Amino acid sequence: MPESPEIEALRAEYEKQVYDLKQLLEVSKSLNSTLDYHNLIDAILFTIMGQMRVLKAGLLAKKGLDATQFSLHRNYKGFELSHGVDYSVAEDHPLVKLFARSSRCCTVEEALARLGGERGIEGLISLGPSLLVPLKAKGVVNGIILLGDRIESGPFAEEERDYVLTIAAFAAIAIDNAFLFEMTTTDMMTKLKMKHYFYTMLLERMGQAASSGEPLSVVMMDIDFFKRFNDCYGHSCGDAVLRQVAKVVQESVRSIDLAARYGGEEFCLLLPGTGLAEAMAVAERVRAGVAGTATEYEGRCLSVTISLGVAEYDPARDLSGKSLIDRADRALYYAKQGGRDRSCAAD
Ligand code: GH3
Ligand code: MG
Ligand code: MG
Repeated sequence: MPESPEIEALRAEYEKQVYDLKQLLEVSKSLNSTLDYHNLIDAILFTIMGQMRVLKAGLLAKKGLDATQFSLHRNYKGFELSHGVDYSVAEDHPLVKLFARSSRCCTVEEALARLGGERGIEGLISLGPSLLVPLKAKGVVNGIILLGDRIESGPFAEEERDYVLTIAAFAAIAIDNAFLFEMTTTDMMTKLKMKHYFYTMLLERMGQAASSGEPLSVVMMDIDFFKRFNDCYGHSCGDAVLRQVAKVVQESVRSIDLAARYGGEEFCLLLPGTGLAEAMAVAERVRAGVAGTATEYEGRCLSVTISLGVAEYDPARDLSGKSLIDRADRALYYAKQGGRDRSCAAD
């Protein structure tokens, strides 16, 4: 029996709702699948561009815990930036307060009508966004998404504005989580990852290496005679040198490698896809880099050396992360015994 027009309309309405919910579920899954801040921003922007059918998108967010403004994240898509223009918005700008009061999207024209002027958001307006979308987590504004030119012409419909707000709600929570994760796994002094994060990644990489057969290596490093250095030049000077060493270590490795601060003046590296010989070459590069770098402190140029121990993961022997680290640590001990400012391979 054919359905009545009312039932048919209801069915179409439900089907549309189910389709939208499925889309949102996919969006939520995709935004919750990464805690890496940069990957997350990419995921948010590409999702919004696809779902809202716009050619450009950008995100303004805080750069650190003590930031007082929302800055345009460098992963923006499609917008042409001009040199010397400030695209950030102060956290106490009336636009942010407006978003804090009412969780609604607005066009630039609507925002200007409410704010009575463009002071403090000239840069943002110069990008010509088609819609400004607030990101709010736990009631607090933690970012603003800018949508650019639409593929279709005409203004956004009310349902479209509601839809992008729902995506923005997922995005805001994901950003909050990723931000917190970044803060709790990063050493504030050196900006390197901390020991517990290193250890978690080590176990993950060991699992992958065991099943793929790809090599994996670990490097442990320790600054030479650092106690003496502190005694000689003072602890603040030691801190400055520590930060400089961390910078050299970070800049000496690839983006897929992990550099971490293992403890006080000890650093470590996790090198995926890298065998012992290659890892030794990396260690030597880091050692030479540190030895060849001077830190300027109160008019003096000071430098330190480091000793390094290198070990390659052996699935038959390293049944725990500790075993691999212990072997690299023992190699480091031999580097110290051998006269310091050198790298030693385990075994
Ligand atoms: P060795 O060559 O045998 O490593 O000699 P060392 O003096 O470096 O010995 P060790 O590694 O045991 O000493 C670590 C010293 O590093 C002790 C501490 O004074 C210093 N240190 C550890 N963490 C920090 C830090 O955050 N800042 C500063 N300035 N010094 C630190
Ligand atoms: Mg030490
Ligand atoms: Mg030391």
